[in-house]
Amino acid sequence: MSEPNRFDVVVVGAGNAAITAAVSAYEHGKTVCVLEKASRDLRGGNTRFTGGVFRFAYDGPNDIIGIAADAGDLEQKGASVGYYTESAFYDDLMNVTEGRADPTLTELLVRESLSTMQWMAGLGVGFHMAGVTYAVGHVRTATRTTTAPTGTLTRATGEGPQLSETLFRIAGEREIPVFYDTMMLDLDFSESGSVRGVIVRDAADQTRTIRARNVILACGGFESSPEMRSRYLGPLWDNCKVRGTRFDTGDGLNIALRAGARAFGQWSGCHATPIDVHAPDYGSIEIWDKTNRLSYPYSVMVDREGSRFVDEGEDFAGYTYAKYGRAILERPGSVAYQIFDAKCDGLLEPRYSTGTPVIAQTIEELAVAIGIDPEVLCHTIAEFNDSVNDVEFSRAVLDGNRTDGLVPKKSNWAQRIDAPPYTCFPVTCGITFTFGGIQINEQSQVLDGRGRVMPGLYAAGEMTGGFFYQNYPVGSGLMRGAVTGRIAGAHAALEGPRP
Ligand SMILES: Cc1cc2nc3c(=O)[nH]c(=O)nc-3n(C[C@H](O)[C@H](O)[C@H](O)COP(=O)(O)OP(=O)(O)OC[C@H]3O[C@@H](n4cnc5c(N)ncnc54)[C@H](O)[C@@H]3O)c2cc1C
Repeated sequence: MSEPNRFDVVVVGAGNAAITAAVSAYEHGKTVCVLEKASRDLRGGNTRFTGGVFRFAYDGPNDIIGIAADAGDLEQKGASVGYYTESAFYDDLMNVTEGRADPTLTELLVRESLSTMQWMAGLGVGFHMAGVTYAVGHVRTATRTTTAPTGTLTRATGEGPQLSETLFRIAGEREIPVFYDTMMLDLDFSESGSVRGVIVRDAADQTRTIRARNVILACGGFESSPEMRSRYLGPLWDNCKVRGTRFDTGDGLNIALRAGARAFGQWSGCHATPIDVHAPDYGSIEIWDKTNRLSYPYSVMVDREGSRFVDEGEDFAGYTYAKYGRAILERPGSVAYQIFDAKCDGLLEPRYSTGTPVIAQTIEELAVAIGIDPEVLCHTIAEFNDSVNDVEFSRAVLDGNRTDGLVPKKSNWAQRIDAPPYTCFPVTCGITFTFGGIQINEQSQVLDGRGRVMPGLYAAGEMTGGFFYQNYPVGSGLMRGAVTGRIAGAHAALEGPRP
């Protein structure tokens, strides 16, 4: 039986941004379909590989109870869920992007975050607060202290795999068709310049046009294309590992740019993190985000030459992890070594259990085992230990336990590495997603090179530029996708007649 060929709204992609867009358009009474390049087995884009962490603004427990199933319990047990004001969220986005994030889009993300979370919870997406670890779980208040040691961020229950499954279930309950193995090849425009469909290569290897009054592009960035990575991010990037889906190869970006959309945001920038050196080349659905190695604030991190190269304790990992992947990629051999001592027992994220550490009783022994000149590594560790000042260690705050006179400095959690056994995790760079995109307005409508709306064309999620530059605060990608997806779906559905 042939598939229907005409819808009010066609959504390209099947991640979080796409499915929220499709459901939002459906809720406004429109016929919708979803096009997924991947097979049913591999569906769901990067969304499926996520830790499911969502960052959103809230004013206190009342905002969270009703979203996160365990928020009330935590409060009753005396653990404050704290608060995270819109201005704190806005400031975090601006701080990590060095003030370059687009103010209008940033405000949109912040302003719509809570209501979007409430909407998703109402649709049946499960969320909880417990289990967001120390490494990623902190938010800052104006005083830069944490409001609660764990759980100030919210996770989708079951993380990315279950989030993705739930989103497909929600779409299925609404009988929104998802066409698998169906790849957008191009957009189709009327003579007046309005979008009127999508040209696809479908599962039967036929090229055909699916007609639509509105098209929502939610088909990811270009992190899985070695060609585009090396073109926009730099030559080193054709060699990095990809943390998520292999299907986000920039198709939607190339097609939209060719049609006249305006490139926006940091095309040379991306989110890339320290991951296990033995992680697979592309994300594995079995272990999704478990190859991340984000307890480095408690470590001394050295390159293959035995030199430190970043401030491991600049901030909580959730505010530095997205830029330290690049720092590792740029070191010799694109590898680094996170070295912990016995004082760090119990501080490492559970995700480290998926790796195989090198363990030694002395630094010399460790150096030999990992192939670093022992004299150099001993010198690096001794110099580090000598520069540590003796402030009380606390993982729950930026503890000011820093080095003096060392380059690069370590600003927090700088405990001496002097208690054997020494444990070392070799890491490399894993790209998560790219920052460059096309420009949208507050209705998620795509703008052309003249800054005008491209009639009928919307974009959501990773494809949208202007949100992130240089760096990124943990949990903002899923939130950006859901906010822009929901808006795109609603606006596409409500848009008036076009010539
Ligand atoms: C390992 C990992 C962990 C992460 N953890 C978090 C986290 O905890 N919190 C957070 O906020 N963010 C996290 N992120 C980032 C997050 O995944 C993204 O920001 C978000 O999922 C992007 O959603 P999206 O819908 O825009 O894109 P995706 O989920 O990547 O979806 C894109 C879709 O487009 C499809 N597609 C591509 N090209 C075509 C085409 N030509 N035709 C049809 N379909 C096409 C793809 O197959 C895919 O289904 C993580 C990412 C990774 C890789």
